[in-house]
This record gives sequence, structure tokens and C-alpha cells, in this order.
Amino acid sequence: MPGDLAKIDVTSLKGVGPALSKKLAKLGIETVQDVLFHLPFRYEDRTQITPIGASRPGESYVLQGEIVACEVAYGRRRSLLAYLQDNTGKVGLRFYHFSKAQQKNLKTAGAIRCFGEVRAGASGLEIYHPEYSQLSSAVDMEESLTPVYPATEGVSQSRYRVLVTQALDRLAQTSIEELLPDRWDTSLAQAITYLHHPPPDTDVALLMEGKHPAQTRLAFEELTAHQVSLRIVREQIQKLQAPVLDSPSKRYAAVKQSFGFTLTGAQQRVADEVAVDLMKSQPSLRLIQGDVGSGKTVIAALASVHSFENNFQTALMAPTELLAEQHFINMSNWLAPLGIKTAWLSGRVTGKKRIEELARILAGDAAVIIGTHALFQKDVEFRNLGLVIVDEQHRFGVNQRLALRAKGSAGNTSPHQLVMTATPIPRTLSMSIYADMDVSVIDELPPGRTPVTTTVMSDEKRDSVISRIAEACTEGRQIYWVCTLIEESEVLQCQAAEVTEKELAKLLPDARIGLVHGRMAPALKTDVMNQFKSKQLDLLVATTVIEVGVDVPNASLMVIENSERLGLAQLHQLRGRIGRGTTDSHCVLLYRKPLGNLSKERLEVMRQSNDGFFIAERDLEIRGPGELLGTRQSGAMQFRIADLMRDQEMLPMVREASLTMMSEHRDKASILVNRWIKDPEKLGRV
Ligand code: ADP
Ligand code: MG
Repeated sequence: MPGDLAKIDVTSLKGVGPALSKKLAKLGIETVQDVLFHLPFRYEDRTQITPIGASRPGESYVLQGEIVACEVAYGRRRSLLAYLQDNTGKVGLRFYHFSKAQQKNLKTAGAIRCFGEVRAGASGLEIYHPEYSQLSSAVDMEESLTPVYPATEGVSQSRYRVLVTQALDRLAQTSIEELLPDRWDTSLAQAITYLHHPPPDTDVALLMEGKHPAQTRLAFEELTAHQVSLRIVREQIQKLQAPVLDSPSKRYAAVKQSFGFTLTGAQQRVADEVAVDLMKSQPSLRLIQGDVGSGKTVIAALASVHSFENNFQTALMAPTELLAEQHFINMSNWLAPLGIKTAWLSGRVTGKKRIEELARILAGDAAVIIGTHALFQKDVEFRNLGLVIVDEQHRFGVNQRLALRAKGSAGNTSPHQLVMTATPIPRTLSMSIYADMDVSVIDELPPGRTPVTTTVMSDEKRDSVISRIAEACTEGRQIYWVCTLIEESEVLQCQAAEVTEKELAKLLPDARIGLVHGRMAPALKTDVMNQFKSKQLDLLVATTVIEVGVDVPNASLMVIENSERLGLAQLHQLRGRIGRGTTDSHCVLLYRKPLGNLSKERLEVMRQSNDGFFIAERDLEIRGPGELLGTRQSGAMQFRIADLMRDQEMLPMVREASLTMMSEHRDKASILVNRWIKDPEKLGRV
């Protein structure tokens, strides 16, 4: 009996020495079973030769023919360019890296067979760096699809395939434990074998689409594993003690007076749900979803008053300095009249000021501490943290959230946690992604808001936009002009804003124009924001730093440059800065030509709707869930075989399976998680 593959070290495979096993470990591959669960993410069809004339750009082919020319080409970059010809056509083979020997060999190669992706190149159809071999050495065609594995840094595809073949041999002598209730025709082992080595008669189209039953079966198991892991994290948290709060009392009622408005029904309901959480003896973890402008901040304020009434501190963390500062100002205004002291901490609070703030936090003099991720740095010590609030949680990495939570944890106690987001997630998705959290939705906007009208325009019509701004200024309206750039570089974005400000100042001599961007001194930024707020400025030129939190109700016009380059969620956030007052608001989305179909479709969604949920659903359809959820940056929710969009229909069944697993097969739950998730800690969105 060869035993449990999950316990057999990968070094037991032939050819895996210390160097290779180190590289494999980086990919989370430590056992023979891990090799099997590192699944191909696509396939190449090398089973047949395609006539050169039938090849199309964007597809990969095996092509075969004669080398008819081979020379060094001097374009922008020097390259070796050979032409391969059969009786149907000709294709260029281009090599940017090549040796003298290769050049000579290729020139005299005669008949060759090659494989690679065809693209439209400088000389017509070309393949860059094809794999090729001379036909004289009689190479066999592949009999089945060739699996391609996800990033195997330092481990070549062919080397990995050899390991897989060995691992499959082991699998044939043993088996893998079935952990889920049996509802499939194929066993787990059969499905895995099929996907690593699809047989020659496989349904290629089905496999390429990811809809083969072997894939569905594994995707189901993987999705279940993810949900189970979230539920385990939650179970662990619930074993801890939380600060138990009494019912809200006088100050809680009083702070509602400071707001100067009545809570909407949705706000009241969510505030009540949060208050109930805080009175529990287990740490709560609640996600508050609410569209831009739905009024999430007051929920944070109420919860921190509740916490204060029970002698606990609250930490409120926001992703940008600007937003954190806005929160600090709002919260301080609301809380100071009740005798509740706030503290402010960001990377820019330094020196003596920082020492003072840290002392106030440690002594418990500051009850509500507001800031950026500076809040969870080593030297920040709380006296008794009862509640952690994370605003715009999707902007934080999972590790940052974990760190802040850990701050308040001592022994077996942990603070309550509230996370807020404006990224609306369709319900089917949120159920699986946030299986570890309770979710509250603020599904109502404060009264008196006027929907924003949106226009999509080529930036060739910039002039007409500018004359419209001139008009708006004379009417006493206030305007945002948002500069964006394709480069991720903050420096360039700030420079673009500076240039635009100068340009607009020339074109609009009567307008009072201000500028904010991420690289300005914080005090200056605050000054400019305050001037804009108090109507000393008509036009604010800004980078996307104003994306979150900025609240100037009188601003009713927004121009966004290069809007086609931003995600819909981000556009929606930005646009949410206007339409906050009672005047009709207008947003102009400028784009640069040429505009692709996809971009056109996306901007059209913005034009049609102001509803964050609708926009998110459409975004999901157009782009897929990865980007929508902003999970790229946090590294969570990366699947080996499942695809949230494609597999959406499974989600209700996955949910059921994960619940059953937790209640009836708890002993198998961790085995399932370890099989699929190499770093389960990361998944817990805590
Ligand atoms: P979010 O964080 O959900 O985008 P905010 O908390 O920043 O929204 O609130 C947006 C604006 O709406 C703020 O100016 C806030 O003072 C105001 N606001 C919040 N709740 C109400 C309400 N119930 N009635 C009127 N205005 C409100
Ligand atoms: Mg907010």
C-alpha cells in the first residue's frame, strides 16, 4: 500500500532534489498530492498540424513547412526573422534572443515543425519565439492536449509535466480520499487524471471552456473548500471572548442629535444590527455594504459611542490619508460635544506629536482613534480596544486587517470588528465570498438626493466642456476635474494634475481654481479641501485621491479624464462625490479615441445607471469577478480551477455542501481545506 499521497514528500519523486523542492515549495507544492492538485489552467492543442494559410492571430498552432529565408532584421529591436512556408501560406518566426549558432542552424534547417501563438507582426503573421524542431529527427505528434500549468517559476513546463506523470502513476496505485458526498459519475482520482492527461478523444471545446464534467467536479470541491475554510476561521473566532457591551444609553441617543439629520430606515436597521453584535460575548465580524453616499460613516460613529459607553476604545481605519482625515474631522465634530475624545494617527504624524498621541492612546485618554494603516504599527498600543472598524475594506490587504485585529487581541479575547464597503457585490457572490461574515446592507439613500446625469464624450470636445464649466462657475456651482493616467505611477498622475490645473487656469481666467494630489504636503491638502468646502474655490483639479470619502455637497459637476481607463467601481466611487446636494448634478466622462467595444460598453453602463449594484453586476459580466472584488491586490480568492463567474450556478449547492461538511463531517473539513488551500490564514477576511 503506497499510502496517503498527502503525506508523501515531493522529494520521493525521481529528479526532485533540494534545489527543485525549494522552488516547488514556493508554489505551495510539498507533497505528491500537491503536485496533483496543481492543475493545468489551460491546454494547447498540439495534436494536429494546421495549414499555415488557415492560422489566425491570437491562436496557437502546430505548423510545418520549409524555412525559406532567415536573416537578422533591424527594427526597433534587432531580431532574427525566418520564414516558414507550406503550400498554403507563409509565416514569420521571430526571435529577439538568439545565438549565432541558432541563426546558422535555422538557415539550413530545411523542413521544421513549430508551435506557438500566431500574431499580427511587422512582416505579416508572425510567431515570436516558437518552439521548433527539425523534421529530419522524426518527432512524434502529441496524441492528446498538452496541459499548461500556472506559473511554475524556475520549473519549466516540461519538467513539471514529468513530475505529474510520476505523481499520476502513484495515484493509479492508491487513491485520494473522497471528502464530499458522492454525486458524481467520476471519482476524484479519475477527474484529476483526466485533467492532467486528457485522452485523445476528449471534447476539446468543452475542456477549453472549463465546462468538462471533470472540471466541474473539481471546481465544486474547490469552491466548497474555500467556503469551509472561511467557516473554520469564523468558528475559531467564535471560540474567543469579546468585550461584552451593555445596551446603548444616553450618549448613543445624543449623538444622533449631533448628526443634524434623521437616520434613514436602512441606517437605523443596520445600526441596530451592529448594536446587537456588540452586546454578544463572541467577537462579531460584520460587513456593511452600502452604495456611495448611503451614509455608512454614521454607523461607525454610533458604534464607537456604544463602545465608549462601555469604556472601550474604538479604532477606525481608512485606506487614504484624505479619507481618514475627513473621518477624523466628522467624528470629532460629532463626538466632542459628548465629551468623547478622538486621536489622529497617520504616517505623517511624527516626532513629538506622535509621541503625544501614542501616550493618549495607551492611557485611554483618546477613546476613538482614527487613522490610516499607521494604526497597526508596532509601537501603537491601545489601552482596551473593543471595536475595530475598517472603512473601504476592499482597499486593504488581508494582512493589514489581520494586524489591526491582532492589536486588540489578548489571550483568548478579541475585539469586535466592523468592515464597511461601497463595492456592491451581487448576492450569490457575496454569500460565498463573505461566508465568514454577517452582512448588512444599507439599501437606501438619504432623502433629497438627485440622481447624477452622466454624459460620455470624446476629449476632442474638451472645449465645449470647458465653456460649460465657465458657465457653471458663474452660476455659483462647484466642480471637480479629475485627472487619471494609465500608468500606476503616482508621480505622473500628480504631474498631469499640475499641468491640467495650469491649462484650465489659462482657459478659465475668472474661475478660482485649486489643486489636490497625493504628493502635496498634508496641511496644504487640507487647506485646499477646506477652501473648496467653504466655497472659496470654484473648481478643484484633483487626482483620484478624492475617490473615497470627500464630501462637499455643493459640488454638482464632475469631469473625469481618461475615464475609459478606470474600473466601473472606481468611476462609480468618484461620481459619488457629486449628487450629494439638492441641485441637479452632472458627470462628464471624457475618453480618448480610439475606444474599444468593451470600453464603450462599460462607459455606457455608467451613463445608464447610478445604481452601484446594477453597475457591479454588469461589471461582473463584462470583466469577471477577480477585478470587481479588488482581490488581485489582496491575493485572496484565487482559484486553481473554479471561476466564480462561470460557476455561479453551483454556489447555492456549494453553500449547502460546506454547511453539511461543518455540521456532519467536521473531521474531514480541515483535510479538504489543506488539500486545496495552501495558505488558509490568508483567506480569512478578518
Ligand atoms: P458613505 O460613506 O456611505 O459613502 P457618508 O457616510 O460619507 O456616505 O455620507 C454621505 C453624506 O450623506 C454625508 O454628507 C452625510 O453627512 C450625509 N448623510 C448621511 N446620512 C444621512 C441621512 N440620514 N440624511 C441626510 N444626510 C445624510
Ligand atoms: Mg464612506
